Amino acid sequence: MDFGLKGQAAVVTGSTSGIGLALAGALARNGVDVVLNGLGDPAAIEKTRSDLAAETGAKVLYHGADMTDGEQIADMVAYANAQLGRLDILVNNAGIQHVSPIDEFPVAKWDQILAINLTSNFHAIRAALPIMKAQKHGRIINIASAHGLVASPFKGAYVAAKHGVLGLTKTVALEIAEQGITCNAICPGYVHTPLVDGQIKDTAKARGLTEDEVVRTVILAAQPSKQFITFDQLGGMLLYLASAAGAGVNGAHLSIDGGWTAG
Ligand code: NAD
Repeated sequence: MDFGLKGQAAVVTGSTSGIGLALAGALARNGVDVVLNGLGDPAAIEKTRSDLAAETGAKVLYHGADMTDGEQIADMVAYANAQLGRLDILVNNAGIQHVSPIDEFPVAKWDQILAINLTSNFHAIRAALPIMKAQKHGRIINIASAHGLVASPFKGAYVAAKHGVLGLTKTVALEIAEQGITCNAICPGYVHTPLVDGQIKDTAKARGLTEDEVVRTVILAAQPSKQFITFDQLGGMLLYLASAAGAGVNGAHLSIDGGWTAG
């Protein structure tokens, strides 16, 4: 299927791993030039970058902005525009998790989760909008979570940040509604990524369960399909929102959670 995105340019935050890397791959395979971002071993990141460029023929660049630092985030957006000549698609994906009862929640972890999972979206959108307004074209897609809509115990900072992402998404959508730009949020249920592996381990410790028990009785207990959401399913939703067919969708959250938030 041709989503008509060839020649466009994108930034995907947190794309050295997991969902972000899969989404950057979906864009590059559809002819979109992409700036990757995220933490990790420099040699491994360079291999990821060059492999994706070779596989897809798209320009694939990397910027190492730390998502806790607003100036570095603005620099990443400016870098994308300077190197690729435009910026059509901003995917705010970087995110971390920490599982702890609220009265024991480490204060520094709360601050870090709010910075990476919520405030980084503000900084990236703030830097990208002048470029998108000048182009009269832009797609901002924030990767929130089912936890943007409902809570689970022991995930206070994550749930608060993801609810905040939906509020930011709707506010931006209203501000840019007449300018050829849309701002939407994708709310995935559980996807098997390194982030979820970490949660399985942390939840096992917090609840005194084995990791297998956590997968069966905690993680996929919330997801009526009893199946992890796949990278291909997420890529399809992203490409739809980025395409001309998605132009009328603005300020929405699109759930992709196997029925989790239907209940
Ligand atoms: P992941 O741990 O596999 O990847 C996270 C990415 O963010 C990595 O590239 C990492 O380097 C990057 N990152 C972390 N801290 C950073 C920082 N300070 N600066 C720059 N980059 C940083 O996680 P994932 O599961 O792929 O999650 C991606 C997004 O999807 C997150 O926002 C997460 O909340 C959301 N999400 C995940 C799931 C799931 O089940 N995995 C479900 C719903 C929503």
